[in-house]
Order: sequence, then structure tokens, then C-alpha cells
Amino acid sequence: MQKEINKIIEIFNKEDNFLIAGHVGADGDCIGSVTALTRLLRKKNKSARAYFNRDTLAPFSFLDLNKEEYYDDFERLKKEIESDYILIALDSGNLERVDLEKEIIDSAKYIINIDHHQDNSRFGKINLVDSDKAAVGEMIYAVVKELLNGDIPLEIGTPLATAIITDTGALRYENTSADVLRVLADLVESGVNIYKINKEIFGTVSYKAIVLRGLVLSTLKLSEDGKVAWLYVSRDMMHEAGTDYTEGLVNQARDIEDVEIGILFTEEEKEKIKVSLRSNFYAKVNKIASQFDGGGHPRAAGATVEKDLQTAIKEVVEVAKKHV
Ligand code: 5GP
Ligand code: MN
Ligand code: MN
Repeated sequence: MQKEINKIIEIFNKEDNFLIAGHVGADGDCIGSVTALTRLLRKKNKSARAYFNRDTLAPFSFLDLNKEEYYDDFERLKKEIESDYILIALDSGNLERVDLEKEIIDSAKYIINIDHHQDNSRFGKINLVDSDKAAVGEMIYAVVKELLNGDIPLEIGTPLATAIITDTGALRYENTSADVLRVLADLVESGVNIYKINKEIFGTVSYKAIVLRGLVLSTLKLSEDGKVAWLYVSRDMMHEAGTDYTEGLVNQARDIEDVEIGILFTEEEKEKIKVSLRSNFYAKVNKIASQFDGGGHPRAAGATVEKDLQTAIKEVVEVAKKHV
């Protein structure tokens, strides 16, 4: 771990041209880590460009990402980036997960892969991969600490805390280690307002999202033994509610008493079903996801099934039942 961190610091000191990206369907760990690392490199007077898909940015407006800080369009990015850039891929277990066009990935001088997925395919020239870390934000924190000699400005501290708070479910998940609490304590001491971050991410929801939740809750099903619970979101429901915001809905299934596995099925297109899996204590949901060409962490994983909604539900639930 320290060996890779040293190598990365050496590259950050020596090189000048970076492109930073997260995974498709970016979450708070992704957005926070990409933002913090981009701001760190810019602070070091490096040319650092970030890519985000605009659709995923909505609940993270409090990070004050301004348009000059990131690209949301591949054509503009390709036009403006100088060749020989080093690509830094964050929170992505494999190359297919990286939220960039293949051409942009292939044109990189080389890739630095920073991630915390156990099944990471080590696709980089440098691979800083540690599945004991709760969030990539925790790993970026270590790099920030070394490069800035301890002083973390708010513009970097807030996205780092956002990354950690998201991936630990506001310090409620199993991955909330003593290290996580130490990192957050340090960030709070630097002035980061974690109440505000928690409020923005977990304590604020749009009216439309609540309407959608109502529709989705009426689809709740429980297996005979009560250990697997699942819900689905159809295109029609999203249309009726006027939103496709499904963040956190899977927890409605996972949090039911005595349930081990909670699953949310989202009908992104007619035959493209996004599956979100969560577990409580023992079921390794990344094993279930990998049977459908997905992946993730033991307690949070996902996949996309190219079948109609009811077939996807039937097939995934059948596999999930074997894991409880
Ligand atoms: P979510 O259910 O929030 O979309 O995803 C939970 C976690 O599962 C993500 O943080 C990511 O690690 C993993 N994940 C979700 N979808 C996929 C997928 O299609 N492929 C892989 N490899 N991992 C996924
Ligand atoms: Mn993620
Ligand atoms: Mn993560």
C-alpha cells in the first residue's frame, strides 16, 4: 500500500497532465474522490481534468462544482485535453466500469487505478487497491495528507468527507472502521461540516422522489423464509412520479427485520434492468452480482440484466435465495 502511495506521489510531483474519472452511475464516493483529487492536483499547479456524467451530480450540488472544474461531454474533452495524459480511474473494479469512452481510455499514456473493490482486476500500470478501505475517499485522504503536509483546505476536505460518509452509509455500515473515524475526526478538525453533508445526502429528498418511493413500496415482496426482500421501479412509475431518483430505495428492502438480502430492480430500459443488492450480516451479494456479470462489495453490489423486468426479478431472486 505505502509503496504504491509513494509511487503515485512521485508521479504527481513529476508529471503534469492528468485526467480523473470515476465509475458509471457515479455515487458520492466517486464524485467526492474525483473532486478532491482534481482539486489537489490543481492546487499543485498541475493540469488536471475531471469527467462526470451530469445526470449523477444533482444531490452533490453542495460541493460547488463549477463548470470549469469538470467535463461532462466527451467531444469537448477530446478536443481540449493534450495528448500524453495520465488517466486516474477511481472506485472502478475494472476497466469496463470506468465512466469514459473507450477511445479516451485507450489514448492515455498509462492508467493509475485507485480502488477498494475486492475483485479489482488491477487494470492499471499502478494499482493502489485496498479492499479494507471503506471508501476511495479514505485512500485519497492519505495521498492528500502527504502531498499537502497535513493541511487540508475545505474545498478538498468536504468532498473527501462526502466520499467517506456516502460509502459508510453515514457511519452505519460494517466498514466504519477506527481509521474511518480518525480520518473524519481530522476532517472535522479542519472545519468540514459533516452535519451539512449528512443532511444534503441522507436528510433531504425531493417531493417527486417520495412519490416514487410510495409507488415502489407497493411492489415489495418477501421470500417464504423472510430472508430476501425485493422491490422494483418500472419505467411507468418513474414517468408517473416525474423522477428517476432511486437512491436509497434498496435499503427499504434490506432494512426489514430478519431480512438478510434486499434487492431493488430498476427498469432503465425495456430489457435493461439495473439490479442493486444489499445484505446485512453474512450474504456475499457481490457473488450474486457476479453471476450476472456485475460485481461490487460483499454488502453492496450491482449488475445489469438484459431481460424484461419480471424475468430479471425471477432469475436474480432465485439465486439470492440460495445465499441465505
Ligand atoms: P448500487 O446498487 O449503489 O448501484 O451499487 C452498489 C455497488 O455495487 C457499487 O458501489 C459498485 O461497487 C457495485 N456495482 C453496481 N453495479 C455494478 C455493475 O454493473 N458492475 C460491477 N462490477 N459492480 C457494480
Ligand atoms: Mn462507488
Ligand atoms: Mn466506493
